[in-house]
Amino acid sequence: MRISFYGACREVTGSNILIEENGHKIILECGNFQGSKFAEEKNYSAFSYDPKSIDTVIIGHAHLDHTGRLPKLIKEGFTGKIYSTPPTKELTRLVLEDSEKLMREESEKNHHAPLYSKEDVIKVIRQFETITYNQTVNLNNEFKLTFKNAGHILGSAITVLDIGSKRLIYTSDLGNTPSLLLDSPQIIEAGDYLICESTYAARVHEDLNKRTEKLAEVINSTIINNGVLLIPSFAIERTQEMLHDIEHFCNVQNCEKPKFFLDSPLAEKVTAVFGQFPDYLSEKLNKTHYDKDFFGLDRLHLISSVEESKNIKSIPNPKIIIAGSGMMNGGRILFHAMDYLGNKNNILLFIGYQAFGTLGRRIYEGEKEIKIYGKKIKINAQIKAIGSYSAHADQPQLLNWINNVKNLKKIFIVHGENEQALEFAKAINSKFKIIADIPQLGETFYL
Ligand SMILES: [Zn+2]
Repeated sequence: MRISFYGACREVTGSNILIEENGHKIILECGNFQGSKFAEEKNYSAFSYDPKSIDTVIIGHAHLDHTGRLPKLIKEGFTGKIYSTPPTKELTRLVLEDSEKLMREESEKNHHAPLYSKEDVIKVIRQFETITYNQTVNLNNEFKLTFKNAGHILGSAITVLDIGSKRLIYTSDLGNTPSLLLDSPQIIEAGDYLICESTYAARVHEDLNKRTEKLAEVINSTIINNGVLLIPSFAIERTQEMLHDIEHFCNVQNCEKPKFFLDSPLAEKVTAVFGQFPDYLSEKLNKTHYDKDFFGLDRLHLISSVEESKNIKSIPNPKIIIAGSGMMNGGRILFHAMDYLGNKNNILLFIGYQAFGTLGRRIYEGEKEIKIYGKKIKINAQIKAIGSYSAHADQPQLLNWINNVKNLKKIFIVHGENEQALEFAKAINSKFKIIADIPQLGETFYL
């Protein structure tokens, strides 16, 4: 077996792995690169293989850094099936449609051709074939595929590939536990090779139980200061978890005063997808809350048009605005940031990973003056973060999960910045005495 790494190598985005055995070629994910100034260049550059020669693509979950180059792959000749779970197919459709629209607007502004078209996105969705967790399919004579719940976002899957007598496991992204919305990642009892994500692999998340306390603190201080709470949010999962926690807060405390806005048409559509797939929600949620409005949609002002988004400004404080994008590298959050970051009574609350090079990361790391669309903004607002909203496992969770996988001969560490991956490799070596490799972009291994 030959395995080549063409993305998410010593960085967090661009997942793309090629596996070859006896002439069959399978791709694990086809994500786009995000964040750095080289990201766009990398997205536009040619694949390191001929898309026409690929038999099958497997998608672990719908995030753009795992799906964003699928339309380019199809545009350049890939005609095979794309396997995922049913919610992943639905969410991939939403994120690709959204990304195509943003890209088209951007490329019209900058006078260059977009990476792909609406038609390419339609073709991608047509090529999807869905299977549920624990169902096994023969992809060809060599490869057998089974998905297990990864607990990361709705429909997310760990890929288990049985290739002849060898078993290869790919985590895609592994969830942070316990999650109220999703069940914990499933245990895989044995495997020969593991490709493991490492987004937070050198960290320990803060206590999950503290997050509702912290959120209550932030909302209360917004009310007391008659301010604005801005939450840059990722459309999938974190927005829904945040909505669920706000609903819980409002059940305990009085929420008469602040107005709550969800200013993200994508997040609104994604929230509706959660309702379509109750089987993929956690057992706990299904048992205790499913008949209730567990996202508090009755209270929420759902903002669709740009006009409505601009009108939020005229509504008196206190206000709580959840808007994309999560790393502030685009989206409506930027317009709210221009309006509100200058005032010390306001709060900017980060609830997710901020990739290197993004505006979110720069503000999080303490920059006091930024530029948005050419306008200088002095940051006087309070900058806060709640780490436990992360949808990724931390180091103890990753090591515990790996501990259950017997017979491992080698672990490949992907999807993490260099420091996280290096620390994680050390931890794996000392705990399991297994070789952990951190592949370079384009590196090939023979197994
Ligand atoms: Zn992800």
